Amino acid sequence: MRKRILLYSLSIILVSVLVTAFVSVFFSVSSYLDEKESTLYAYSRLINESISDDFRAGTDRPMSAYAADFSRESGCRITFIDRDGVILADSEAGDAYGDMENHGDREEFLEAIRTGVGGSDRESETLGKEYLYVAALNDADPQRPFVTRVAMEVDKSDIVMDQAIKSTLISSLIGIALAVVLALFYSKRLTRPIREMEGRLTRTMEENRKAENIRREFVANVTHELKTPLTSITGFVETIRDDKRIDERTRDRFLDIISIESARLGRLIDDILIISDIESGRETNTAGDIDVAEAIGEVIAILTPVAEDAGVALRFDYSYEMHMGGNSDRFKQMMANLIENAVKYSDADSVVWITAVKQEGFIRVSVKDEGIGIPEEHMDRLFERFFRVDKSRSKAAGGTGLGLAIVKHIAALFDAKIEVESALGKGSAFTVIFKA
Ligand code: ADP
Repeated sequence: MRKRILLYSLSIILVSVLVTAFVSVFFSVSSYLDEKESTLYAYSRLINESISDDFRAGTDRPMSAYAADFSRESGCRITFIDRDGVILADSEAGDAYGDMENHGDREEFLEAIRTGVGGSDRESETLGKEYLYVAALNDADPQRPFVTRVAMEVDKSDIVMDQAIKSTLISSLIGIALAVVLALFYSKRLTRPIREMEGRLTRTMEENRKAENIRREFVANVTHELKTPLTSITGFVETIRDDKRIDERTRDRFLDIISIESARLGRLIDDILIISDIESGRETNTAGDIDVAEAIGEVIAILTPVAEDAGVALRFDYSYEMHMGGNSDRFKQMMANLIENAVKYSDADSVVWITAVKQEGFIRVSVKDEGIGIPEEHMDRLFERFFRVDKSRSKAAGGTGLGLAIVKHIAALFDAKIEVESALGKGSAFTVIFKA
């Protein structure tokens, strides 16, 4: 594309350079002739002055001597004509000047007699070549006025060739240099949007490919995660149905497992639905007013029995009157996930501290536990879907592996930032920073 534009503009500019060169040749030929003509004028005046001076000094040099001298000096043909058109001397004819015809009808002569100076550009009748003629009247001696004529041979085709080659070469070189610079500049500018579009398309395709891979991996993970409890449920159901001699205690244990696995299946499906709802982009953080302390209070009330079962105490500290815009159900969901995790990954007789404070335009909500902590090397992957540091502990605690992925999604919905601090064996703190 760039090459084509470059080629087009180069050829357009080249054509115009050639046209300009040819036009300029015609102008330069006529300006060349003008220039020569004025040189001849100056020369004829110079000759006249010099002869007049000699006349005043009373010279008796013959006119033919002047003609020969000035012709040698200037390289021009010099002719002296009296006011009746009779030739007085001529540098080309030499001694045979008397044979020359009367010049009384020559254009430059007539003009010089009339106005003092005259010029003409024509073929010489005497010599048969093209000449540029300039004539100047010399009437220093009123008794014998005469006309000094200076002639120069002009070969127009020579001038044309000479000038044409020069001007074509110069203008072509300038034109080509200019063309290259302009073409490079414009082709770059013209193709920039296309190149940008290409770049954007490549990026979008790359993003789509990545998104598709992530989606495929998610589907594979979901299938696997759903299958595990389902296999377990079907297995126990079949055992109970087939084995009629099963004792009541064993049967109750199996039924408990079935109930736990069903609950896990339910939670998994709930979490997957939440994630797909948020990811579909259908969900916007529809503005509602969230009373932060009140919302957290409600979550704590729901989770207190769970925490008590685990022997974990929940403590809540907050500054009064904190409000922000957003979807209150989503906010509570995020808090529930963080507090549940803090309880799940803490041992009995420990405390989970929940704080909400307003600071310099931000509301910082944090959930801090005294639990098992998170190894440094896993910090990066915590918010990935189905990532668990300790799979068996997560499963034993009823985790789906989606809790923090949901927290991350909801934080993005609120345009909030998440910070995690953790020390292995000492505890973890998750802080979400909202714009108030
Ligand atoms: P899960 O359902 O397994 O808890 P999450 O997405 O909520 O899934 O968390 C991912 C993993 O991060 C957990 O499996 C656990 O290993 C780790 N984790 C989350 N919160 C805590 C915490 N408060 N203390 C220690 N580990 C945690």
